[in-house]
Amino acid sequence: MIPALSIENLSKSYDNGFEALKGISLEVKQGDFFALLGPNGAGKSTTIGVLCSLVAKTAGKVAVFGIDIDDDFPAAKKCIGIVPQEFNFNHFEKVLDIVINQAGFYGLPAGIARQRAEKYLRELGLWDKRDVSARMLSGGMKRRLMIARALVHEPKLLILDEPTAGVDIEMRRSMWDFLKKINAAGTTIILTTHYLEEAEALCRNIAIINHGKIVENTSVRSLLKRLQREVFIFDTIDEL
Ligand code: ADP
Ligand code: MG
Repeated sequence: MIPALSIENLSKSYDNGFEALKGISLEVKQGDFFALLGPNGAGKSTTIGVLCSLVAKTAGKVAVFGIDIDDDFPAAKKCIGIVPQEFNFNHFEKVLDIVINQAGFYGLPAGIARQRAEKYLRELGLWDKRDVSARMLSGGMKRRLMIARALVHEPKLLILDEPTAGVDIEMRRSMWDFLKKINAAGTTIILTTHYLEEAEALCRNIAIINHGKIVENTSVRSLLKRLQREVFIFDTIDEL
């Protein structure tokens, strides 16, 4: 099966010469729930920036469901929904309008746009806030608003950049449940995080990125097993 995402030897040097990505390669299977884990400054948001063409790559190939982003970016973009790390909507716009306007970018007819906006705002517990200006929402609500907005064109791949950073534990769990549900319904999900427990709670496969390089790419289960073994070895050494 064609992978949902394939990245080959991706590198990015910013204008100041800083090499944020040093030739990373990754493959995410269709249907997967995939974590890109790494500390601040590792290159997670740069990678996502390349996927949504906010960041121009220096070298490498990126394909989404077999569509090379250099060949046909509009077609690739239709397959992806992005929830960025920063709130990037107009804070003075109303919640419902933000989601409906996004649908407009994908050429969805007004009736369908409105229907989908209602569906996702309801599922994310924001329907009551539909006529509220976005700046009135809490941080967790703003994050959920961006999830609704990312889903309005029903992408096959949803990418979330640190969706639960700064979100309280209760809200984090309800967001996790929602993401699990849409993954079970067939949407491939990639999220970046710096919480290993988030990857453990949600994801099947994981890549660890540090200083612009992938240092580990495996299943969450085998990573955890290995970490347990290493902790065990350290404990044993302590006892000697
Ligand atoms: P992460 O999302 O993993 O925290 P980023 O991808 O945001 O990391 O950043 C990776 C590195 O690239 C960091 O060291 C950051 O300071 C640097 N960086 C990000 N954007 C720019 C930019 N526009 N110009 C120069 N350096 C940048
Ligand atoms: Mg980031």
